[in-house]
Amino acid sequence: MQGMNTAMIWQTESISSEDSQKLAQKMGELLKPPKVVELVGDLGAGKTTFARGLVKGLGSDSDVSSPSFSLSNIYRLSSGVEVHHFDFYRLEEPGVMRQQILEAIEDEKSFVIIEWADTVRNLLPKSTIKIELKPTIDNPDRRIITINYPEKFHNVIAQLEQSRLS
Ligand code: ADP
Ligand code: MG
Repeated sequence: MQGMNTAMIWQTESISSEDSQKLAQKMGELLKPPKVVELVGDLGAGKTTFARGLVKGLGSDSDVSSPSFSLSNIYRLSSGVEVHHFDFYRLEEPGVMRQQILEAIEDEKSFVIIEWADTVRNLLPKSTIKIELKPTIDNPDRRIITINYPEKFHNVIAQLEQSRLS
């Protein structure tokens, strides 16, 4: 395996909803499909907010809302890219969604974003980028954002880090 999927970690801090979206947008601009991004965090942590920035960075002007009831939303970009946004909150048994998520993952032109992936985590590829958002007790608008990523994304993360400094 030669460390191909060695997990690396980068942690940053967001000071507002807009700040999280800005970070996510930059990430969306840097990542080309196919990719899988898992968003982790409690209710209200900012997963959908982050997804909104990602979708924008990928090149869509669509309004991104939580797919909590529909389980998945698809945004089709003019480039032919399809962004699949899944949200399996409180879904005990993925059922047909298992097939849908596999199809999305295998599709070369798709970018998969998933919230509450617990029941399908074993289906996610090793190249999944995992982003965790954690509120802090001192400030309701602050989030600690921890990004777990395979080594091959090191350059992308380095560029993200750079964008935070300027
Ligand atoms: P989730 O999808 O994790 O349940 P949402 O993104 O739907 O969370 O909601 C997060 C809420 O927290 C939004 O109302 C958002 O405006 C607010 N918020 C405040 N500060 C931040 C931040 N730094 N990053 C993301 N969201 C934030
Ligand atoms: Mg959500």
